[in-house]
Amino acid sequence: MRSADFCEAPALEVEQIRSVVNPRLLQHYLAELDSGCAAIPELEHLKLPPGPFRPDLNEHLLFHGALPESIEKICKGGFDPRRGGEGVGAMFGTATYFAIKASKSDIYTEEFARRRQRSTQRTMIVARVALGAGFRTCEPRKLSRPPDGPDGPPFDSVWAAAAASGGCVDHVEVMIYDKSQAMPMFLVDYRHTEQCRCAECLKRPQ
Ligand SMILES: [Zn+2]
Repeated sequence: MRSADFCEAPALEVEQIRSVVNPRLLQHYLAELDSGCAAIPELEHLKLPPGPFRPDLNEHLLFHGALPESIEKICKGGFDPRRGGEGVGAMFGTATYFAIKASKSDIYTEEFARRRQRSTQRTMIVARVALGAGFRTCEPRKLSRPPDGPDGPPFDSVWAAAAASGGCVDHVEVMIYDKSQAMPMFLVDYRHTEQCRCAECLKRPQ
């Protein structure tokens, strides 16, 4: 914690990737998309190209880690920002949290008080997230919605800069406070290999 020395990157084996097909969630998500906004260089590699008939909404594919019992709920009902960060810090308030590194989302595939075995199968979600106008924060903030923009209208999302560029988290995190701004696209089933020496495996039973 707060160290510049990182453990080894996780050694993962992806077992399968499943598509989430939920027309109702897609409809809510598409209804949410309506205005253009500024790009975020740190997230550029995960950005989706805007569609031919839509303005650029800063849509990205991002990782979301969840407990096994929450995965199905999210696939059926979508992400619920009101439940975001329950029991795990909520550094940036009541939101749904996404990561640009899978290793960050991996942390949330178990309860810290009841860690699962290292090589057990885990599932993380790849989500399509509309960031719209993203507010950059370098410090923790207990928000229930994105802050107001300089000219009045509020930002659409908040993203936390990494410590390496003046922020307060190891890896960039993205927060949305509105249910319709994200939808689950894929479920990735994976395991850490027996040889994995990542920061989380060091805390998990073998
Ligand atoms: Zn590991």
